[in-house]
Amino acid sequence: MTAATPPPPRATAPERELGLPQREFSPLARAFNVVVVVVPFVAFAFAVVLLWGGIVHWTDLALLAVFYVATVLGIAMGFHRLLTHRSFQTTTWVRALLAVFGSMAVQGPPIVWVADHRRHHTFADDEGDPHSPHVPHGMWRGLLHAHVGWLVGRSEPSDPLRYARDLVKDPLIRRIGALFPLWALLGLALPALLGFVLTGEPEGALTGLLWGGLVRMFLVHHVTWSVNSLGHYVGRRRFRTTDRSSNVIALALPSLGDSWHHNHHAFPRSASHGLRWWEVDLIGLLIKAMERVGLAWDVVEISSEDQRKKEVA
Ligand SMILES: [Zn+2]
Ligand SMILES: [Zn+2]
Repeated sequence: MTAATPPPPRATAPERELGLPQREFSPLARAFNVVVVVVPFVAFAFAVVLLWGGIVHWTDLALLAVFYVATVLGIAMGFHRLLTHRSFQTTTWVRALLAVFGSMAVQGPPIVWVADHRRHHTFADDEGDPHSPHVPHGMWRGLLHAHVGWLVGRSEPSDPLRYARDLVKDPLIRRIGALFPLWALLGLALPALLGFVLTGEPEGALTGLLWGGLVRMFLVHHVTWSVNSLGHYVGRRRFRTTDRSSNVIALALPSLGDSWHHNHHAFPRSASHGLRWWEVDLIGLLIKAMERVGLAWDVVEISSEDQRKKEVA
């Protein structure tokens, strides 16, 4: 008698609902990542040519600014500080809005983003970190891998059931994640629509799509990715951590505070990433303001004594 052949592993309900391949990325998912990297880059180059020729309207720049701030808030405040690290709590509608804005940045659905980022903290700059510039070794190869190579060349997704089980069980976040293509398209359609409404010209829709949609996506991508690459390569350190994270001052404003990345690795749950008065952290200030008006609570703060204890002597 032979033992019965065990049935092949089947996707569990949450995996199916997330639409995630558990063992490897499909060629389609990888092709999507390539498109999402290349198209905004080409659009940015085209926009620079238009700018050079003086063909830009104030409505285009206003749309760029509004959608830039909304989607950086979605990623850095929503996906990162709220969902990944639970640095603060907020109302259901703010949580939903931040998750939608983050999805409009087109860096993946919230659960996928959070799983990758928690895995980054678990293995920080060691084997298993999905985007460390120090694995693989070699300066340029490492930086390129941490910046964008890990997105287009990877074969294995971070397991959402291992790294983001809390969110897999969260019906709101799961539902928003399932509608990810809709939010990504909305991030392009809304600036096009507003461009048309504000200028009253069909051309306004096209330039709105270009600046508020694609150029904005390009800038937000590269600021976030620079925190992954440069934020583990150049800049200052002052705490004892086992990784090679660094504070990148030049990105403090465009990242709205997320580039105080070494502070963040030292105290991952802190709602403020800027820990000194001059470390400008607009998101940290916004969370404090929301706390004052009752829109945020359970805001994690690190006492100056705990900071001092971790400082390099
Ligand atoms: Zn990091
Ligand atoms: Zn983090």
